[in-house]
Amino acid sequence: MGKTKIVVVGAGYGGLATAVTLQRKVNADNVSITLINKNDYHYETTWLHEAAAGVISANDVCYEIEPLLKDSATFVQATVEALDVDSKQVLTTNGVFNYDYLVVGLGFEVQDYGIPGIKEHAQSISNALSASKIWTHINAQFAMYEKEQSPEYATIVVGGAGFTGIEFIGSLVDQLPKLAQAYHIPQEALRVICAEADTSILPGFSESLSLYAKQQLEARGVEFLTQTAVIGVTDKAVTVRGPQGEEAIAASTLVWTAGVKGSAVIEQSSIPSTGGRVQVLPTLNVADYPEVFVVGDSAIVTDRYHQKPYPPTAQIAMQQGEAIANNLQHLLEDEPLTPFMPNLKGSVCSLGSGDGVALVKEREYTGRKAAVLKKMIDNHALFLVGGPGLIAKKGKFNIFK
Ligand code: FAD
Repeated sequence: MGKTKIVVVGAGYGGLATAVTLQRKVNADNVSITLINKNDYHYETTWLHEAAAGVISANDVCYEIEPLLKDSATFVQATVEALDVDSKQVLTTNGVFNYDYLVVGLGFEVQDYGIPGIKEHAQSISNALSASKIWTHINAQFAMYEKEQSPEYATIVVGGAGFTGIEFIGSLVDQLPKLAQAYHIPQEALRVICAEADTSILPGFSESLSLYAKQQLEARGVEFLTQTAVIGVTDKAVTVRGPQGEEAIAASTLVWTAGVKGSAVIEQSSIPSTGGRVQVLPTLNVADYPEVFVVGDSAIVTDRYHQKPYPPTAQIAMQQGEAIANNLQHLLEDEPLTPFMPNLKGSVCSLGSGDGVALVKEREYTGRKAAVLKKMIDNHALFLVGGPGLIAKKGKFNIFK
């Protein structure tokens, strides 16, 4: 009998956690694990806002995938074009892969809700490349301001005041004094505007933490427009609609963080999905295709105590990856599958250097304590995937900054 073939698509938090956990559990004589990813590197999605704001480089957020794999696991760099779950095949730019078990961890894509101009003119913080493009774009716009003194070049609009938007703004305002000096822009000419359709910012955090975040950023010059939706964008203006009606803000930069959806590859497959995200069983596989597991942002998992889906987070993606690896081991050993039981430790949102808000184990933290917690979590995520070696290479050591 040949080896059992396990194919994992996507080497984000979920796919990588599945592969590195599974390779420790299986015998390379009987099982082959193939990890397929678009790039030959993994990027720390939770650090992308820092790369987008130029606090760290795109290189700082990436590390090579291949050195993390051993024995039973092989890496293939390829873009997945289709999942043919009826014939148990993955079709990629680098060939067709047959599988006995499939793990799908293709992450998220930008959702533009059909708003005119988002596709053509907005920037997004969705991968290492798009993040570094934002920093390049901002620098180019500020250079234009230095030449032409026209306000749109010094105005940055952020669409969405969720986790991604707020973390980006926090890092961005750290950089503004440096940028103003480099491009000879008076500080008062610089505008950072956050447009949010909801009545408050940072859903998922308590009212007091969200208020703290808003006040801290406002004190650093950020203008919040709540109950205000972005309804159009060109290369020179962002049009918003709020309580005061419509307004075209002269701005040549819109960073769009207000919408994500699942993968188009999933949407086009015969796996039942909603917007490219798959409602999985508590054991993280698909009812119609039990040999297919789905991990991370690609999966919708219902919290059975609160009867609502868990939020798409790196923390949950990594824990699901470990749970899927355990369940694959159970399948290989003819044992029953076990349901996913997350150990939710809380969440921390950075507000730039030395500041943040955190809810950890039901306790709230703000300021430097939250910032320290954030760096400890970042380092812990590296440790889980690559041990002390990866921390030595990519870790955040100045945790009190
Ligand atoms: P991803 O990490 O998105 O990985 C998907 C992988 O699939 C990528 O490697 C991609 O290249 C690959 N891929 C996609 N399509 C294809 C294809 N067709 N072929 C081959 N490969 C493909 N969560 C937290 O818990 N804490 C935080 O502090 C936090 N901060 C965040 C900050 C920002 C700026 C952002 C954007 C997100 C943040 N999140 C945070 C959310 C978290 O990053 C996501 O929930 C997490 O990345 C999901 O992991 P994943 O494995 O599902 O997908």
